[in-house]
Amino acid sequence: MKNSKDQKSNTVSRIKQLRKREIAVETLVDGILKGNQALLAQAITLLESTNPKHYEKANTVIEQCLSQPNNSIRIGITGVPGVGKSSFIEVFGKMLTSLGKKVAVLAVDPTSSLSKGSILGDKTRMETLSKDPKAFIRPSPSGSSLGGVAQKTRESIIICEAAGYDVILVETVGVGQSEIAVHSMVDFFLLLKLSGAGDELQGIKRGIMEMADIIAINKADGGNIEQAKLAVSEFSRALQLYPPKENGWVPKVVACSAAENTGIGELWEIIEDFIKKNRANGHFFENRKKQNRNWFLQTVDESIKHFFHQKPAFKKAQEKMLKEVEANKISPFYAAKVLLDGITKEL
Ligand code: GDP
Repeated sequence: MKNSKDQKSNTVSRIKQLRKREIAVETLVDGILKGNQALLAQAITLLESTNPKHYEKANTVIEQCLSQPNNSIRIGITGVPGVGKSSFIEVFGKMLTSLGKKVAVLAVDPTSSLSKGSILGDKTRMETLSKDPKAFIRPSPSGSSLGGVAQKTRESIIICEAAGYDVILVETVGVGQSEIAVHSMVDFFLLLKLSGAGDELQGIKRGIMEMADIIAINKADGGNIEQAKLAVSEFSRALQLYPPKENGWVPKVVACSAAENTGIGELWEIIEDFIKKNRANGHFFENRKKQNRNWFLQTVDESIKHFFHQKPAFKKAQEKMLKEVEANKISPFYAAKVLLDGITKEL
């Protein structure tokens, strides 16, 4: 009985999906600009699609969204599983919506294509925020590579901004290079940490400290308060060892508790201060411009690689050259030049 009911609802949802795909670009864009969440979600599904037929349509939507003025703030949030990211986002997001802001929560989770549930994909997360009409929560797109997942999330940011979302939170669990990918699409980067027993700096991934604009020691409540204070001073000391940031910002360290809703308002004040200063000194838009440039150049690089690697003639010539390199008959560098000179003439 239950099975046939399930089957029926599966069929209904497939039909709905098919219908959704037929929605015209104008309807999607119009819906997005009016802040219609269902159409926003469908536009994101379209841009996440791997079907080449959807590519043009998705691009038209993105192009129209790109030209919309917005005043958004993009915030990256990272931390190990269990640090309290979703609890934090729930409380932080609710505080922002209570201030009248529209909040979108996106995610970059490169594990989403490997495990069905994925690290960030648990549906029960952010239950209160997900019911808030001023909030839009979207799980990580799935994809075979981090680059692919990140690209979709980055394009989703544009669509959410056109839909009037003031604050875009991009969450990542920090697998592989995902923090770097998120850092390269946001204005402000928040690292959530836990206080330990004086070994705060151990186990912290290289490069993360440099990326952080703020480190928030979470779960600073109950018996943890003293340890959290110690962690704040230890991280503050450690941050002083890093060279100053190009934009002049000195990263901050704060303690907060999502459970008791403490320190969250202060954290938002720091972010607002950061944005205000960076808008005033020009770094805010300079950084976005730089990010755009990097994404473009990176995509061109990847496409060039892909272009060559899919050519059988290239593969064959590379294999041949590889054997000569292995046999020490030719220098690896000269071999690469010969290979590319030859193949570009041939193609
Ligand atoms: P995530 O995996 O980083 O998203 O972490 P979650 O938000 O799922 O939180 C992991 C666990 O920590 C859950 O059991 C939460 O209830 C708990 N937790 C989250 N924030 C706090 C906090 O501020 N204080 C305390 N004491 N527990 C918290």
